Amino acid sequence: MQYVILDLEWNNVYGRKIHGFINEIIEIGAVKLNGRLEEVDTFSSFIRPSIGKRLRGSVKKLTNITNDDVQGGEPFTYVFSTLRKWIGSEPTVLLSWGNGDIRVLIENYKYLNGITYIPFLSNYVDLQPFVQRKLQTDKGQQIGLSRAAELLGIDADAYSHHRALADSELSAECFRKVFDFDDLQEYVQTCGTDFYAKLAFKPHPISNIRNPLIDKKQLAYQCPKCGVNAVRRTEWKYSNRFFRAVFECPTCHTQTKVSVRFMRMYDHIDVKKTAAEIVPQQAE
Ligand SMILES: [Zn+2]
Repeated sequence: MQYVILDLEWNNVYGRKIHGFINEIIEIGAVKLNGRLEEVDTFSSFIRPSIGKRLRGSVKKLTNITNDDVQGGEPFTYVFSTLRKWIGSEPTVLLSWGNGDIRVLIENYKYLNGITYIPFLSNYVDLQPFVQRKLQTDKGQQIGLSRAAELLGIDADAYSHHRALADSELSAECFRKVFDFDDLQEYVQTCGTDFYAKLAFKPHPISNIRNPLIDKKQLAYQCPKCGVNAVRRTEWKYSNRFFRAVFECPTCHTQTKVSVRFMRMYDHIDVKKTAAEIVPQQAE
């Protein structure tokens, strides 16, 4: 088993073919580790843009990549067929920090090569949740690569940020710090049809209270002081992703504003529920 940790830099450009904006890959960096996590080789290349010719100012500023750099690169198809050969035929787990790079890679393959899958991708691990679980940071809050490195005691300043090879090496260093073969297996995703469908899926909130996917139990509220079911006093109103209603406890008469959000994820519904007691205004 080998591990390939990949990082991409991209430029947001207008793509005529799709009548919209696309993140065109301009640089790739990758590190290859063997099963003992020793660095075997690195891969680094600029990609000559073919969708948008000029780099955005923000991209130049963030990455220090110049128009001359990318003009000196090779075309997308050439670079990625070289990468494919470089990865080789050994069983490989591909990793990246966050799945944004994989989404962009899929977009670029589709736009530039007309294919909807990535030929060298069979097993994938999103490093970010894997590292974050080891760090025991809040699951709902995604942390950046340099922050994770810092928490792991890695000197992130030794790497030049937002450059593909340096970021892939920094990611590899984070991976080494938290690596555990058995724990990793839970994070390995097989890249079949489901994998692509899941990546393409855009989570969205449910806005109709009668949607059968809503778990009715979540629309009840129990008074925390009395432990009895409170009575809903207003209709559910939907605003800013949440259903909101006022509940009143039949015992202590406390009124509470309850807000529930049902987020439709690819394979489940994510529920967030908050309650705020309404404090009666004191008469002067
Ligand atoms: Zn009560």
